[in-house]
Amino acid sequence: MDREMREELEAIALDLLRHARWAEARGEREFPLAGPTPESGPFVPAPSARPTSAKTTAPSSAAMRPTPGIPAGERGEPAAPPTGAEALEALRREIGDCTRCKLCRSRRNLVFGSGNPRARLVFVGEGPGAEEDAQGLPFVGAAGELLTRMIEAMGLSRQEVYICNVIKCRPPGNRNPEPDEIEACSPFLSRQIRAIGPEVIVTLGKFAAQTLLRTAEPIGRLRGNWHRYEGIDLLPTFHPAYLLRSPHEKRKAWADLQQVMKRLGLEAPAEKKRAPRPRPGYDG
Ligand code: URA
Repeated sequence: MDREMREELEAIALDLLRHARWAEARGEREFPLAGPTPESGPFVPAPSARPTSAKTTAPSSAAMRPTPGIPAGERGEPAAPPTGAEALEALRREIGDCTRCKLCRSRRNLVFGSGNPRARLVFVGEGPGAEEDAQGLPFVGAAGELLTRMIEAMGLSRQEVYICNVIKCRPPGNRNPEPDEIEACSPFLSRQIRAIGPEVIVTLGKFAAQTLLRTAEPIGRLRGNWHRYEGIDLLPTFHPAYLLRSPHEKRKAWADLQQVMKRLGLEAPAEKKRAPRPRPGYDG
């Protein structure tokens, strides 16, 4: 099977998975052959059906099992591949104590990712910095603090979304990732995203956008415009480290996040409180 066809099949599978989750959130127990699609009605996330904690496990596949009681394999159908927590854990085990590129020689901790394994929204950054390398967690330094405020301004928490990077190990001296490092590591990012099956991906900065979209377009041209990655809506925005250096750009980044909120049907508590001041909730 060539790559294009594989990507198309993966996109279809993701769409089916998202539809099943949407049906599950609506309390549907069967997978309808015809009927409403996620686009045809308002999506009202049911808190009980939509896990929000980082500790949540893989999704129940009730919505995809029309004949309960008979395991998929025994009905002659292939068993559904593991998604969410299970798939992420398997991927983390597979990466192991990675030596696939030269960054392994200087890193202290591999930074895999953190958050909800079934998140509707995934943020993808560039690569760990000093603090992330020390703690083994993504976005926990100064840029991470700003990212946390951006997420909270959207009315979400870090535990509700998923946060990861293109490369999992810190480049020495925080230099830019090199092409061979991106090439060695980005397949794991793709599999991470596939395991989570988010509705929206937000890329932070040029490396994440250019890597996932396979383009050399500058971030200034990519940001603020919707793209598709394996059937998932993707919106590039500025990297929080850049926003720390260029605070006047926060307004544009906030406009990007508002687009994301709209697409996910989210309302910003910060926006309501700060209605008279048309400025980002994380601007402070
Ligand atoms: N910058 C990134 O791109 N990722 C991190 O995890 C931290 C800083």
